[in-house]
Amino acid sequence: MPRLPRIRPYLAAYVSATAFAFGSLPGVAAAADTVPQNDLLNAELWMQKSVEYKANSLAVYALAKVRLDEALADKKWTAATEQSGDYGNLPPAIILDADETVVDNSAYEAGLITSGADYSSKTWDTWTRAEKALAVPGAVEFTRYADSRGVKVFYVSNREADQEDATRKNMEALGFPMGGNVDTFLMSKEQPNWGSAKGSRRAFVARDYRVLLLLGDNFGDFTDNFRGSDEDRLKAFRSMQAHFGHDWLMLANPVYGSFESAPFNGDYKLPADEKRRKKIEALEPWTPPAK
Ligand SMILES: [Mg+2]
Repeated sequence: MPRLPRIRPYLAAYVSATAFAFGSLPGVAAAADTVPQNDLLNAELWMQKSVEYKANSLAVYALAKVRLDEALADKKWTAATEQSGDYGNLPPAIILDADETVVDNSAYEAGLITSGADYSSKTWDTWTRAEKALAVPGAVEFTRYADSRGVKVFYVSNREADQEDATRKNMEALGFPMGGNVDTFLMSKEQPNWGSAKGSRRAFVARDYRVLLLLGDNFGDFTDNFRGSDEDRLKAFRSMQAHFGHDWLMLANPVYGSFESAPFNGDYKLPADEKRRKKIEALEPWTPPAK
């Protein structure tokens, strides 16, 4: 993240108005602070250091185990909206996203904060090739349980095709099921119609397998309707809400994702200041009554 002035001009009015309303404003850097603010800090601290995050991941994977057993017993069950035809007797599979679903890249994100750098595809590529990602709590145990029940474990990741080998080595060392003689790592651009939207890859799995569960940390791990404004996303979510907690399970990721880009319409080229302004404008604050 770029090193920024303590309080941006547009924030000054907000800060003084809010500080006036509440009497004080914990969490906003005072003019004398020498430590730069960083938009990722609290989210990253939670992901990398908190027991609360670990407990949350374990709970999601504990529920996944329960749902997997239910899904195996019900031949009509499918988690893939792309699934069609007579799928009841197809072999079972599950589809998981990789980053922040089964592997934990928090050391890379932490490095962005401590070095004051922005995300870049170049440093991200170096990180993936270092094979230093850790396992998300509960992910190895759950995927190994699924594998032991004869369920093929697919990873549908937006890491790119030329990062597949390093990703495989990293995840094999962590103990994840590797798919045997089936290519279970379906990376972005590995086939011509495999873009960042994952529907074509879910359809590819659903052709030969009954898909029991989807697991991800981003709306796009479940539907191709993940983009657009917050209102668009909420509308799409409402129409699919019954899946969540049932055959679609979401891991928490407050650090990055399509939630973060929705307020600025995914226009990452905007100046950091402008993106932050749009995010603040997206908030719905309570205004205390006038005295
Ligand atoms: Mg992810």
